Amino acid sequence: MNKNLSNIKKAIKYLNNDECVGIPTETVYGLAANAYSNKATSKIFKLKKRPKKNPLIVHYYNLNLLKKDCVINGKFLKLYKKYSPGPISFVLKLKKNSLISKNVTNNKKTLAVRFPKHTLTRRLLKKLKYPLAAPSANVSTKISPVSKLDVIDEFGKKIKYVLDGGQSKIGLESTIINLTDRTQILRLGGIEKKDINKFLKSNIHFVKKQKNILSPGQSKVHYSPNIPIRLNVKNPKKNEAFILIKKRKHSGKNFYYLSYNKNLKEVAKNLYKTLRTIKKRKFKYIAIEKIPNKGIGEAINDRLKRASKFYEKFSRS
Ligand code: AMP
Ligand code: MG
Repeated sequence: MNKNLSNIKKAIKYLNNDECVGIPTETVYGLAANAYSNKATSKIFKLKKRPKKNPLIVHYYNLNLLKKDCVINGKFLKLYKKYSPGPISFVLKLKKNSLISKNVTNNKKTLAVRFPKHTLTRRLLKKLKYPLAAPSANVSTKISPVSKLDVIDEFGKKIKYVLDGGQSKIGLESTIINLTDRTQILRLGGIEKKDINKFLKSNIHFVKKQKNILSPGQSKVHYSPNIPIRLNVKNPKKNEAFILIKKRKHSGKNFYYLSYNKNLKEVAKNLYKTLRTIKKRKFKYIAIEKIPNKGIGEAINDRLKRASKFYEKFSRS
């Protein structure tokens, strides 16, 4: 039997048994469980040490199952046709008779949904009779994983199975757009805000803080390697791992390149991987070069600001 197919079958066996499984997506790896099952979804919160009030994103193959769970509107359909499957999540109104576990929404009347593009995960979703609740497969507030080994790094033996789909192509979480009473971008991510606005001929804003929802993606300290990070650095100190986005003539042993020549998509793809490597090499301090705040650079800077909050706390105490 084809290896991928037998691995998908293994994943299905665990998922049908209300277990959590690591799944590859083009953004980052997810910690997936049956979104209809209270037992399975409660395990996600436990493994991640995630506060119950932070709702999960639910992953679908296409609109067939989604129609049973959510109220579909015109703006959603337009964006779905343009960007799905892909790195964008939509917040929609939840139908009253939806089967989605209350754990997923924290009893709210809205649901965040996504259609991931990764081939393996699409093949998996197609074979399931339920959608998958899947937040990023990292311990709450820590760096998101972009490979199978990263997921194992996070959870060790506590996770029963990880479907190996290679390194995530985008390496940064999905853009989240609220399409309920208001249209707002709740998290910057894989699809650029300016592209969405151009496509819809609109002026949708990114709201940093949402009333009533304290979400990990919106909370101040997040995506943190637990090492102090200095941003916009030109000249690093000796004891800092220095992250750059453009090759320098003279580079030191402590230099880490995210891209050869400021390609921001490459920067996004390599960021979490590099932070993880630096952490493994036991650096105590990180410095990072300024990243242009355009295109996906906006999302990268948003993550770095949150990751660096630890440093501010650290230097204050
Ligand atoms: P992650 O844990 O990295 O997958 O992030 C999931 C993100 O989706 C969090 O920032 C959640 O707050 C957000 N999210 C999930 N459901 C909703 C919802 N119903 N409304 C707003 N944001 C949501
Ligand atoms: Mg996350």
